[in-house]
Amino acid sequence: MFFELVKEMLCAEGIESISAISLKNCIIKKPYLLEKAGIDKGKGNAVIFTVPYYLPGEKDRNISLYAVSKDYHLYFSELFGKILPKLKEQYPSNAFALFSDHSPIDEVHAASAAGLGIIGKNHLLITEKYSSFVFIGSIMTDVCFDTFFSPPKECENCGRCYASCPCHLDTSKCISALSQKKGELSEEEKNVLISSGTAWGCDACQLACPHSEGISETKIPFFLHNRIPHLTSDLIKGMNEDDFSARAYSWRGRNTILRNLKLFENGDENE
Ligand code: SF4
Ligand code: SF4
Repeated sequence: MFFELVKEMLCAEGIESISAISLKNCIIKKPYLLEKAGIDKGKGNAVIFTVPYYLPGEKDRNISLYAVSKDYHLYFSELFGKILPKLKEQYPSNAFALFSDHSPIDEVHAASAAGLGIIGKNHLLITEKYSSFVFIGSIMTDVCFDTFFSPPKECENCGRCYASCPCHLDTSKCISALSQKKGELSEEEKNVLISSGTAWGCDACQLACPHSEGISETKIPFFLHNRIPHLTSDLIKGMNEDDFSARAYSWRGRNTILRNLKLFENGDENE
């Protein structure tokens, strides 16, 4: 009953890939988030789902695909704002906690164990319809309902992501992380970012994956509108605070994305 209710609400939002898992079968990374919500990690359950954002074909895109639309955290915040009141109304004596990203569990492991996809060598969840171009959301609760578990499956290790990645999947050197680093970049870091061609994030390993061939485009309205695929310094400087803070690259402040963009516009962010 509970799972069906949540599924119905998510389906109404265009979310197709939904499952449920017991927290006992999850890797708990931040137990304090469950404690804060009043959910026992030994008894609680989670509805776990994926939200696709893939939309190709934008010319001159110079940022990662996930950052082209408005910040996906806003999407989840709106989604949870619709779902949570209904759950509280139907289950007034139960606890709920809704997450995307900053989650108490290892989301990729949980989504795979719940049957939503396989785990790529690049540590991302790979789904059948949208490959790794999905965000993972979860609704945790102390409500009892049937859950699913199968040992998480890994990809076939074809090596294409490794070959396409400028840092050979060394997470300590990931360009996506480098583009989000605050402060001054070293000469080497500047050159790495310039050669990557991206001012924010990196999609190379995802695009190279054979599971990304012929995938579907997102139909979720939030990711279809308000898209800015190509950033310039002038564009960022011209955004008011509200517009800027609605973007995924805003969390590191205006100076970080401006520093990166100037590398492409002037060859050096100090110029
Ligand atoms: S995001 Fe880019 S740099 Fe990071 S692991 Fe993937 S291909 Fe490598
Ligand atoms: S490119 Fe190959 S090794 Fe990398 S995640 Fe995809 S299937 Fe796995």
